[in-house]
Amino acid sequence: MLWTEKAHTNWTGVQWTTYKMGGPLQEAYQPQSLSEAVELLTRWMALEDNQRPKLTLLGWGGNSVVAQAGIAGVTLITRKLDWVRPEADGLSFTFGAGVHSAKVAATAQKHGLAGGEFMIGIPGTVGGMVRMNAGALGQNTSERLISARVFNATTGVLEDWPAERFGFRYRHSEMDSAKHFVLEATFAFVPGDAATIAQKMTDSVQFRRAHHPTEPNGGSVFRNPLPTESNPKPPSAGMLLDGLGARGDVTFNKPPWEQGGVQVSPRHANFIVNVGVGDEVGTSTDVLRLMRRMQQAVIDAHGITLRPENVLLGDANAEEQALWQLLWQ
Ligand SMILES: Cc1cc2nc3c(=O)[nH]c(=O)nc-3n(C[C@H](O)[C@H](O)[C@H](O)COP(=O)(O)OP(=O)(O)OC[C@H]3O[C@@H](n4cnc5c(N)ncnc54)[C@H](O)[C@@H]3O)c2cc1C
Repeated sequence: MLWTEKAHTNWTGVQWTTYKMGGPLQEAYQPQSLSEAVELLTRWMALEDNQRPKLTLLGWGGNSVVAQAGIAGVTLITRKLDWVRPEADGLSFTFGAGVHSAKVAATAQKHGLAGGEFMIGIPGTVGGMVRMNAGALGQNTSERLISARVFNATTGVLEDWPAERFGFRYRHSEMDSAKHFVLEATFAFVPGDAATIAQKMTDSVQFRRAHHPTEPNGGSVFRNPLPTESNPKPPSAGMLLDGLGARGDVTFNKPPWEQGGVQVSPRHANFIVNVGVGDEVGTSTDVLRLMRRMQQAVIDAHGITLRPENVLLGDANAEEQALWQLLWQ
């Protein structure tokens, strides 16, 4: 055990993901400060290469499907790394990796700064937003990031990474989740009009309340197709799936597509919701099977291959590994 006094051995994915599913976290830690996180990572690095367990970071669990077999090795939950430090220029702030996205948006708003409005409704943390290049309202995390402090398991030290080093693309960064751990990040905002900022944030929250499911879910399961020369304005993943009837239709008594304890949300065809109870509660296998069905249906109907936005964490069983490979092939 890495740090006996601080280890949690009875946590599961249910408590730590918005899908509310997933098996046991073998050895979990929730560091309360930068120094505690660094100490934990240093202890982990000090182990011999062949003795070092896999280390997985979990922020808000807003995009993560945790395997039913759980996460073996060490899980570091970042939520308590939640400091906010204003920078001298009056436009930038450094946030701990576990700061909730809504708190980032609120911090910028409080200082009359624009550019963070899109973060208000995203259930995620600073680290998760950087890793996923989260975005909404046509804005992305990459546009706000100046730099981040990353514990690099390849070099074993804390490094300052300028934004360019992350290789951001749509919902993608080049970080290697098994080796690069964001511990804090500096975002810059721009002076804005208070009323406009407030309006954008209110609109975003109201839109989400009206269109997003209320049952446990992991946000958009697929990324939207990117524009190409021949198709400069492709339909979104949700529109494609909606057109195929994935979310059902109450008027015609058609149920949404379902698998075990999960189903396509009747509110949004690119969301899967965990609706099972008791023994029927949704599992990672259910999610992956349903994702595969959704992906195949869009391929058959439109020749478009949707790619996962959700990430799979932990020890996938053989079927889950095969499904995940199919989803990416
Ligand atoms: C209702 C709902 C609405 C959503 N809306 C949006 C939206 O509008 N736009 C959008 O982009 N996303 C959206 N999401 C998805 C999700 O909230 C984002 O992807 C968010 O950025 C994930 O952050 P997290 O902290 O929850 O990441 P997690 O799910 O905890 O982790 C995601 C990945 O990042 C890695 N990771 C986490 N923290 C760190 C770190 N500190 N350093 C390195 N790697 C790390 C994890 O290991 C994992 O690989 C939504 C989700 C839900 C449930």
